[in-house]
Amino acid sequence: MHSIYSPDSHATMDEMCEAAIDAGLQGICFTEHVDLDPHYYSYGSYDYAKIMKDAARCKEKYGDRLIVRSGVEITYLTDYADDVRRFLDEHQFDYVLGSIHLIDHIFVGSEEHFIGKTEQEAYEPYWQEMIAMMESGLIKRVGHMDYIKNNRPKEYGPFQLERWENYITDILHLIVENEATLEVNTSAIRRGFSEPYPSWEILELYKAVGGRRVTIGSDAHRPSDVGRHFSDVSKHLDQMGLVVCGEEIFCCRV
Ligand SMILES: [Zn+2]
Repeated sequence: MHSIYSPDSHATMDEMCEAAIDAGLQGICFTEHVDLDPHYYSYGSYDYAKIMKDAARCKEKYGDRLIVRSGVEITYLTDYADDVRRFLDEHQFDYVLGSIHLIDHIFVGSEEHFIGKTEQEAYEPYWQEMIAMMESGLIKRVGHMDYIKNNRPKEYGPFQLERWENYITDILHLIVENEATLEVNTSAIRRGFSEPYPSWEILELYKAVGGRRVTIGSDAHRPSDVGRHFSDVSKHLDQMGLVVCGEEIFCCRV
């Protein structure tokens, strides 16, 4: 989840911790945005010392009721892979989530990304960037894998897995081979989708290539979204035979 230390959230860490306690969660992890593309608006917004200090205060304040961890959601970009590496080398986190947010400096979750592009032109670089992220060895926890489904233009018709199955299977294989973990992100459901990121069919494919472990995140940017849709999504994952690994975040440093 995010807090005021991410440019797209106004919630204090205290508000998010209290919402998690009210939602009956045992633990949470802050994953504040880190964007290292200087062309993007949130570049330079990350303040490690300030965030860690506030997170440490929350760990102390809520420690008897809630496990609080402090991590990052870093945008992986091939063009800035050296900066990503340096940033991760120079800082210590409880948890590092890697996501693809930008293609050619444009947010893939925006309509702008699709303007004047065929499905091939819009989707292919996204999957290629995700393969590059896994091949870089920098990221072991993969955020909202099919995030690109936001704002998919109507002209493309319904998403057809078969069309992208080779890329998606390659990514999932890399996740399994690298002993990485896929995040199941329930924020897709509050954005109007009937399933999380990634979709159930991608999660089935993950299982088919030997994947077992997932983490669950609500990607909350405000208190009312903390832990939303966890119970129904967890049940579905359980039925599929996928294991939600709390210990990925709460027991060991990754
Ligand atoms: Zn994200």
